[in-house]
Amino acid sequence: MIWNVEEFTRAAGATVERLAAYVDESQRGLPPVIARRPPGELAERLGLARWIREGGMTPDDHAGFLAAYLEEGTRLHHPASLGHQVAAPDFPAALADLVHGAANNPMAVYEMGAAAATVEHEVVRWMLEKAGYGAAGGGVLTHGGSLANLTALLAARAAGAPDAWTEGVPGDLALLAPASAHYSLTRAAAILGLGERAVVPLETDPLGRIDVARLPEALDRVRRAGRRPMALVASACATGTGLHDDLRGIGEFCAEHGVRFHVDGAHGMSALLSDEHRHRLDGVELADSLIWDAHKMLRTSSLAAAVLTRRGSDLDAAFRQEASYLFYGDPHGDGDSGEPGGRGIDSIGRTVECSKAELGLKVFLNLAWRGERGLGDYVARQYATARRLWELGRERPGFTFPYEPESNIVCFRYGTGDQLEIRERLMAEGSFHLTSAEIGGVRHLRATVMAPATDDKTLESLLDQVSGCRTQTFGST
Ligand SMILES: *Cc1c(COP(=O)(O)O)cnc(C)c1O
Repeated sequence: MIWNVEEFTRAAGATVERLAAYVDESQRGLPPVIARRPPGELAERLGLARWIREGGMTPDDHAGFLAAYLEEGTRLHHPASLGHQVAAPDFPAALADLVHGAANNPMAVYEMGAAAATVEHEVVRWMLEKAGYGAAGGGVLTHGGSLANLTALLAARAAGAPDAWTEGVPGDLALLAPASAHYSLTRAAAILGLGERAVVPLETDPLGRIDVARLPEALDRVRRAGRRPMALVASACATGTGLHDDLRGIGEFCAEHGVRFHVDGAHGMSALLSDEHRHRLDGVELADSLIWDAHKMLRTSSLAAAVLTRRGSDLDAAFRQEASYLFYGDPHGDGDSGEPGGRGIDSIGRTVECSKAELGLKVFLNLAWRGERGLGDYVARQYATARRLWELGRERPGFTFPYEPESNIVCFRYGTGDQLEIRERLMAEGSFHLTSAEIGGVRHLRATVMAPATDDKTLESLLDQVSGCRTQTFGST
């Protein structure tokens, strides 16, 4: 059926109004940060079965449904939202999602969205420049860091075992990574056919950072076992702790020993935009590949991630596919040769996805509104707030912090009891959303400062609540 554009305009207007109120009350910390009604009750409250069976939603019904839907969810704009590394999206990116939802230009082939493809191309070029990759670099946006890691490791596999695509995977490949690496890397090793057991854990310090001095030993062990290192992975920063590996030290080691170097910068790469924090990524330009999530610190909705390689040709080698209706002639035109009426930029040869969303637009609109500077300031502010939690918490009895934070991720313990009980209590009250992480086998509470609304008052209240005082409570005012 064709759109009734008047109806659309009304429904969209009501949606925007409802969302504006939702973000406003969330930012002010008024309602509970999280609601977790059981799914059965929730399906009932939202009338899901009836809507699915009968349809017939009107703009007014839609407004009512949306209000209830938002109320029953998790509020990432809320100051007490200190849980996962998921952005409280900025609104230019939210507008991009609406545009994609309506226009739907899946742009992995140029003819399905010339503007979308060109926007992505420029965003990727900007990211390559920020990462310190030269003109030979290449990249593509993909639906998330996990896919980006998989893609980077596919490129690594193609470099180390070029016949793997057609002949299958040789049994002697190894992936070197610390136990603190994101689980998507181990998964990727399994998906790529190396098998999880091909992942060789690197020695780390007690906080999970790669011990550079012990890399020669690890490499020796791998080679003596008759295995070929396909790649070595470092984190910038590690998901659990927010701590950074020594990229320069590791990069130099890899260059010297001919080992391919991959940096998982899903969370921390955006610090490239902050003069104050860029030094954490010193040496990243030595990496053969890296990933960078925009839906974490560049404030887009999920999912939008970049996979970048120092040599663009590495990325082209990652996939080799025949599909006569999509691939013909020069398979991966780089856009510079796009003659009039020509094919322009096809990124489909570099991605798992076929009908890939207009991911570049989200990143581009945040940049276009806030500028590189504005996004860098956001990163610096969030990192400073996390550091503030560390400062305030250390002054209080019962709190222990295993390290000084290097990003907006902070781990701590209160007392010696079960930390997960504290987390559950706060979530049940709807007062705070925290996560947890194990460091050296010990469970810690974990705060990730994503919302721009989180301030000193929030942090004091968090420390009160964790330690069992009930002076100021979000959600009860
Ligand atoms: C979040 C994260 C990922 C996975 O990202 P998704 O975009 O959620 O798939 C990978 N690596 C690191 C270090 C991360 O922090």
